[in-house]
Formats: sequence, structure tokens, C-alpha cells
Amino acid sequence: MRRYNLRPNKRLGQHFLVDSRPLYAMLQAAELLPEDGVLEIGPGLGVLTRELCSRAGKVVAVEKDRQLIPILEDLTKDFKNICILDADVLKLDMEELREEHFGGSFKVVANLPYYITSPIIMKIIENRHLIPLAVLMVQKEVAQRLVASPGSKDYGILTIAVNMYAEVKLVCNVGKSSFLPPPKVESAVVKILLRQKPRVEVDEELFFKVVEAAFGERRKTLKNSLSRRLDIPGIDPEVIAKALEVTGIDPMRRGETLSIEEYAQLLEALKKYAGET
Ligand code: SAM
Repeated sequence: MRRYNLRPNKRLGQHFLVDSRPLYAMLQAAELLPEDGVLEIGPGLGVLTRELCSRAGKVVAVEKDRQLIPILEDLTKDFKNICILDADVLKLDMEELREEHFGGSFKVVANLPYYITSPIIMKIIENRHLIPLAVLMVQKEVAQRLVASPGSKDYGILTIAVNMYAEVKLVCNVGKSSFLPPPKVESAVVKILLRQKPRVEVDEELFFKVVEAAFGERRKTLKNSLSRRLDIPGIDPEVIAKALEVTGIDPMRRGETLSIEEYAQLLEALKKYAGET
């Protein structure tokens, strides 16, 4: 930073990694092969970028901060397999990226700007047909939500939305002092293995309607939340009571205690009884 007379831009979530332990944990988790294509989001000052370049076939690094681009070009000038894009990752078309830069699918490895963690994870999930694996540094609370079990305080819609399409593993926790400047929050590295097929085969739109209704009122029982919030034609409180009964799901349980498989069973029963009453 001193060499380039640079001040980190906090608005862009700039906390640069200055610790080799999490860096190597990320590289190991990415299981890079010489033929791999890698998208790095927010290369910053290129600490991770250079290591990715020496292990993968091709690295595309997308950086929103214009003033970092010439610095990054300088810091990665020894590598021929890097392409630095001056762009906002949220506006990037992943299909175009694949066509222009990678022969096939590509991995994502990134120390994320935390202010846009959820939209980036959702973008990765939406493009899972292109991305088999993502290794991400995220805020510790987000990592806990991603790996939470049903019934725990961190289990929520994000847990279900991601685990429906991926398997998430916690790689390691990372302290504030591993970054410069240190962020206000603790961090963690997660490994996200994307599934080509969702974890349960259901009508996904209806599935998430049921999940959202169940989580709509966190302290209410499943029966009450669904009766008040579930808006699907043909499904009324009587259908809900019957569906809960046949699936053996206690109507007094709360939405945040159901597994993805239980939500799928509940949806199938709701569909079966919808319109019968
Ligand atoms: N990879 C570097 C490291 O590990 O030291 C920097 C990580 S820093 C936490 C996040 C980086 O994301 C910053 O360089 C920031 O400028 C960049 N960034 C922020 N918003 C972005 C966006 N929408 N698209 C692409 N990069 C972004």
C-alpha cells in the first residue's frame, strides 16, 4: 500500500489478506489443477491472485476499484495466464465469461467484499451449471448460517437456499488480524460444492413459498405460520393440518427446525391434499 501510495477503500470492503495460513487453506480447499479456470472476485493487491496464477491454467480477476487495476497489472506482470477485468462482479454475465475466457466450467476463489456476500453467493448458485466449486472468505456469521443444522439459531432461509443446491464445508475460522486494515468482524473460509441437481426434487418455486411462509413468523408454530402466510391456491388451514398429520411433522414445531427433506415431504403432502377439501 505504501509503495503505491494507496488508502484502502472501506466502502468497497477492502481488507487485504496479510496472513499466509488462511491463504494456503483457501488454495488447498480449491484443489486446483493445472488445467483449471478460476474466477477471482476482488483481487485487491493480488496476494491470492498470484498464487492462483501459479497453480491454475487461467485466472480471470474481476476488480471494481479502478485505481487498483494498474497496480494489479504491475503485481501480476510475471504471469501470462491472467486476465484482469475492470468490472462489478454483480453485473458480470457468467455465460459470457465462460465463452470468452474459459473453455468450460470454472471455479470461484475469493476473499469477498462482505457488503455484497449474499448476492454473490446467490449468483454462484444460479450459475451452478458453470461453477462446480467455490472457495470463499466470508464473515464468520455468514459461514455459520451456511453450515447451520435445523433447529440451531443460525439456521434460516439462506441455509436452505444454499444447501438445496450445494454442500457447504467450513474450512477454517480467520481472525481480524489476518487482514489489513482489520475488519470489525471475524471471518471464515467456506468450501461450496455445487450440485447439478437440487438436494430434493420438488417444484422449487412452491418449495420456497412454503419455506418463506414457515419462517415468516419465527416464534410461531409451523401450523400457525403456514395458515397465516402460505398463499398457494387450494391450500387452506385444513389442508395444512392434514399434510402435517400424514407426514408426521408435529404442528407445534417451528419452521426453523425442519430439514430440507421434511420441507419437501410437507410440500408433496400439501399438493396432494390441495383442492380435496
Ligand atoms: N483479494 C484481496 C485480498 O485477499 O487481499 C482483496 C480482498 S477485499 C476483502 C475485497 C476486494 O473486492 C477489494 O479489492 C474490493 O475493491 C473488491 N470489490 C468490492 N466490490 C466489488 C465488486 N462489486 N466487484 C468486484 N470487486 C469488488
